[in-house]
Amino acid sequence: MNKSLLFKGYAQRFLRQGRLFHHLLYELEQNQKLSYSELIEYQNQKLRQTVKRAYQEVPYYKQLFDRLKLKPEAIQTVEDLQLLPVLNKSDIRDKEQQFASSRVRWKFKAFTSGTTGTPLRLYRDHFNINLEQATLWRKQHWGGFAFNDRRATLQGHMVTPADSTQPPFWQYIPAEKQLLMSSYHLSNKFIPYYLQKLRDFQPAAMEAYPSSIYRLARYMQIHQELPISVKAVFTSSEMLLDHQREAIEKYFGPVFAHYGQAERVAHFSMCELGNYHYAMDYSIVEFLPTERDGLYQIVGTTLNNAAMPLIRYVTGDLARLSTQSCPCGRPFPVIETIEGRQDDYMVTPSGKWLGRLDVVLKRTSNLVETQMIQEKLNLVRVLIVPTENFTQKDEAILRKKLEERFGLEMQIAIQKVDAIPLTKQGKYQAVISHVRM
Ligand SMILES: [Zn+2]
Repeated sequence: MNKSLLFKGYAQRFLRQGRLFHHLLYELEQNQKLSYSELIEYQNQKLRQTVKRAYQEVPYYKQLFDRLKLKPEAIQTVEDLQLLPVLNKSDIRDKEQQFASSRVRWKFKAFTSGTTGTPLRLYRDHFNINLEQATLWRKQHWGGFAFNDRRATLQGHMVTPADSTQPPFWQYIPAEKQLLMSSYHLSNKFIPYYLQKLRDFQPAAMEAYPSSIYRLARYMQIHQELPISVKAVFTSSEMLLDHQREAIEKYFGPVFAHYGQAERVAHFSMCELGNYHYAMDYSIVEFLPTERDGLYQIVGTTLNNAAMPLIRYVTGDLARLSTQSCPCGRPFPVIETIEGRQDDYMVTPSGKWLGRLDVVLKRTSNLVETQMIQEKLNLVRVLIVPTENFTQKDEAILRKKLEERFGLEMQIAIQKVDAIPLTKQGKYQAVISHVRM
């Protein structure tokens, strides 16, 4: 048993779910009744406070405003943000201290979890930690999940050593009524233990990386297992792919995906109708056009973290917007899709951008998982995990589909593997490109 996880459960409960948390959750739930223009006014008000404090307390912003000969009062509304430059990860790296408030005394440290480059050091205040929890709980209520419900979690926690070969691959955290399960032991050999444990535990909801719970669903599909029905499956941290969603919904229940990042500058949650909503009371998000049609950069401004306010921070993620409002009636704008990081794209020798490559997998039978690695501009290595029924014919179909996508300008090397290697955080990546764009 991992005692530090157990202790962490109680500490988190203490830190995050006190009076402030309940107060904020109430406020956030009320915000769902505001109109769009009232939400804009809410943002403007918080923005003015954020900018004022940033100027007074944060060395980077003091210098920036002085250099631009701007007074903090120049920023009154969301549109005024355009007076300031955007902020990239590289502007912060190694200068994190410059972005930290000199007045906030209790700062909680965190790190970004990117797969490339050194992680950024981040600071959060007590208010921000509670607001994050409240925003997550509002979303959990959308999925019908209640405070006393049990949940099982598959989100990259180190529950048991990576080389352990005997169950349990999980640990129960009583303070959170949570079964923490390892994302690192999801092999065909061990999955039956996971399924049995979940059938016994009967969680009301699952909380998982899409790839982790998809591995369970795919196994159940191949071995014709009965579903494990839950009220909701909350996914986060990775892009949810269509074929994953389909299998997860069939074997577990409705998926409520969520998009956020350690920098906490944008939060999009899926409602019960499957639409992503941009939480306007969490942060300000600007959608800046890219060279590609209909794709926008997600650029966010903190409204709720005095310890380290980030203004116009470029997340590196891309979105397609929707002009439709959602029949669920919530006032928050609808995001059509989140297209993943810019790194999830490949560029061909002739300069074509290729994204959403998972469709290739969807159209081929007898595959469990794939990963595409662009090694050179004209070479893609495709790792596949085949099922027992995978035939040469399937491989030929796969090759044909890949050639259709990549064209003849790219060489394709298909390689069978037992499992797709995960990142250090236990995440799955569908596409990796080693070509600098
Ligand atoms: Zn909705």
